Amino acid sequence: MKNFENIKTPCYICEEELLEKNLKLLDHVQKESGAKIILALKGFAMWSTFPQVKEYLHGCTASGLHEAKLAFEKFGKEVHTYSPAYKDEDIDEIAQISDHVVFNSPSQLFKYSDRVKKINPDVSISLRINPEQSASPKDIYNPCGIYSRLGTTLANFDEEVLKHINGLNFHALCEQGADELEDVLVAFEEKFSKYFKGLKYINFGGGHHITKKGYDVEKLIKIIKDFKSKYNVEVYLEPGEAIGWETGVLVSSVLDIVHNGMDIAILDTSAEAHMPDTLAMPYRADVRDSGEALEKEFTYRFGGNTCLAGDIMGDYSFDKVLKIGDKVIFEDQIHYTFVKNTTFNGIKLPSLAIYRKDGTLEVVKEFGYEDYRNRLS
Ligand SMILES: *Cc1c(COP(=O)(O)O)cnc(C)c1O
Repeated sequence: MKNFENIKTPCYICEEELLEKNLKLLDHVQKESGAKIILALKGFAMWSTFPQVKEYLHGCTASGLHEAKLAFEKFGKEVHTYSPAYKDEDIDEIAQISDHVVFNSPSQLFKYSDRVKKINPDVSISLRINPEQSASPKDIYNPCGIYSRLGTTLANFDEEVLKHINGLNFHALCEQGADELEDVLVAFEEKFSKYFKGLKYINFGGGHHITKKGYDVEKLIKIIKDFKSKYNVEVYLEPGEAIGWETGVLVSSVLDIVHNGMDIAILDTSAEAHMPDTLAMPYRADVRDSGEALEKEFTYRFGGNTCLAGDIMGDYSFDKVLKIGDKVIFEDQIHYTFVKNTTFNGIKLPSLAIYRKDGTLEVVKEFGYEDYRNRLS
């Protein structure tokens, strides 16, 4: 059992060994299926781990100029850039550093693809398709939901784009399995396979929960192999969550315990600022050694150290009484957390640390007042 007792909190700790386990599984998919997997920076962008990640993955997918620059500077393999809409002021720099530029609509593609190719003759151009098939559990995470702005539907597809593109992209899944991918592919192929001729690749997007226990990895491999041989194209996957899935924790400390109808522990972290998906999704993060409310003898509500009334992580129970200064460890907090963090209410951003395979803990980044001040003026 690792000892996080002496660590200064709050702190995210990514465990090298757990990250490696995910990367090895993803590499197994690459090797067996022939697909290339790239990291979606939107879900996981802890660049101090990139030397390890790039041993296995082929590059990164970026959602605009800043993520593309991070991919180019810190990862340095393939850079795929997709943005719902590009701006004039960004597109030239994006063209310079991207290997793939993916457009969301025919109008954006017609506006910029010649300009991008002029700057970077080797670039691949693609259009994001909306296959209009998704089983996404929540509307906020459903790119194929009603009135979605993400991707081009068949009705809006313009065959003129075929002169410009080398591939097609879709992204339709969120924390889903190979069965759901199969359903998306049925819809995608039915609508768009007539346009595959001459294309070099199809990008299956992210949302593949490959590293979650129970994911049918062998089925995914078969789907990709069948698709590749049927259409003679390369296949890309670009998961984010699956890379950071269950690779580490957020460690916080109990600052005070107050009582108002129940026991409430105030922590030196925040659901709103540091675990935003617990409020947005919403979901209940697991806490180490805890149970559901009232399941164990001592139940506490965990609240953040901001003045937002709703900054609540949930109710948790323990075998022992909690004391001021105790550590509270939130499980699985490495994806979609620090990439979304804010300095709301001026509360300090958690540090970033790596728990190395040799058992040492390296704090790779600490934040302070300046990070709050420099976002304001
Ligand atoms: C968010 C996103 C991904 C990654 O999704 P995960 O659910 O983190 O795997 C990949 N591609 C695109 C276009 C995205 O928007």
